[in-house]
Amino acid sequence: MEQKKRCFWVREDSPLYCAYHDEEWGTPIRDDQSMYALFMLELFQAGLSWITLLKKRDAFSAAFDGFDVEKIARYDENKIAALLQDAGIIRSRGKIEAAISNAKIVLALQEEYGSFCNYLWSFSGGKIVLSPDDQPRATSPISDRISADLKKRGMRYAGSVTIHSFLQAAGIVNEHDLSCFRYDELMKDCTEDSFLRE
Ligand SMILES: [Zn+2]
Repeated sequence: MEQKKRCFWVREDSPLYCAYHDEEWGTPIRDDQSMYALFMLELFQAGLSWITLLKKRDAFSAAFDGFDVEKIARYDENKIAALLQDAGIIRSRGKIEAAISNAKIVLALQEEYGSFCNYLWSFSGGKIVLSPDDQPRATSPISDRISADLKKRGMRYAGSVTIHSFLQAAGIVNEHDLSCFRYDELMKDCTEDSFLRE
């Protein structure tokens, strides 16, 4: 079988990582449930490797009510104590408390914009963002804008580096390597009007 060329950072010896890269990373997300689940994992990822989070994703989903944002926004001290006993997840009180306060902000964004996706995609006018020179980056103008707006609303773990990483994963930014097979797959249905470079 012909070897598919993937992004340089993919660990080819990990089927989990390959499947995530091939089927999810950079594929535009347009539904709030998937978007919020990804946003939650990005928060917990801070300081850790993504593969660690991928391995724990099912345990996270089980521990956090299937990433139900309304339930998470109402978590109380008892629930926090239970989560801190759950070896399947990242047991950080700071991150768990941030996840709860962030969930309240996501609910407010859904109220204001109709959906979390509407809010996020509004920053690119609904278009997929490419870097001007097709080189992957740590931050971008769109991650700077979203980060600034989220921080103003009180969102935690919402620095521009974290947000850029989230936007790459959510497909709002396409930063697959030019040589990666997913770059072409994602661009093949794009017209001049469906992406922008900044
Ligand atoms: Zn790729």
